[in-house]
This record gives sequence, C-alpha cells and structure tokens, in this order.
Amino acid sequence: MTDTGMEALTEPYYEALRRGELAAQHCKACDRPILYPRHVCPFCYESDLGWVQLSGKGVLHSFAVQRVGPPSGFEDDLPYAVGVVKLDEGVQLLGRLWPDDDGEWNGYTCDGRVEFHGATGDEIERRPVAWFRRTG
Ligand SMILES: [Zn+2]
Repeated sequence: MTDTGMEALTEPYYEALRRGELAAQHCKACDRPILYPRHVCPFCYESDLGWVQLSGKGVLHSFAVQRVGPPSGFEDDLPYAVGVVKLDEGVQLLGRLWPDDDGEWNGYTCDGRVEFHGATGDEIERRPVAWFRRTG
C-alpha cells in the first residue's frame, strides 16, 4: 500500500482532538474555513491552506440515537448518539453527542444549540471523534 498523504493531511485535525480542541483548515487565499481536510481549497482551488481553531459552537442539524444494530466494532458503545453539527464558522461535521445526566438524549433537538466538548484520555485515543453537548 502506498502512502497517499491522507494521514499527513488529516493528522492536525486528530492532534487537535487529542488536545481537546476542534480545528479546521483555513484557506489563506479566500479566507474560508474548510472541513474535512483537503489538498486544495474547494472554493477557490488554492493550495495555501493553514489550520485554525474553531469556536466549536453551532447548531445540531440532525441526529440519531443508536440503541441496536451498531456497525461492527461499536457494540460496546451502545447506546450512543451521532449528529451532524453545523458550526457557526460555516462548516459541518459528524460528531458524537454527550448524553444528559440521565444517560439519555431527550433534551436534544434538531436546530438546537450545541458546543464542542471533547473527550479526553483513553476515550479520545480509542475513538478519535469530535464530541458535542447541548447548550440550549
Ligand atoms: Zn480558498
């Protein structure tokens, strides 16, 4: 298998997650954030891209609570919730949702406000994904 450069491309994103931060690429030419990582800007096709830290605040576009029938390897995670978050910066991503104190997600609503609240330690190493919690 040859190295396509994909790992180098995405590594700053995962490094930020391990620091408890949410990062996106930023196009220096047209000043727009880019997520997920690309080799060239999808808006202006320039390749001079840097990285910026995102606010992590946004709106929950859609979500689903998985209680049965998880993908292979996710059996131990049940139940869990996955949602599409549209960040205020204009990019969107798939993330995990922290349950409320009762272990459920009944307080979450589509178009409700959420913010990034990263997992830490062993959990982020085991499952490097962006976690969000509701703020409304
Ligand atoms: Zn651009």
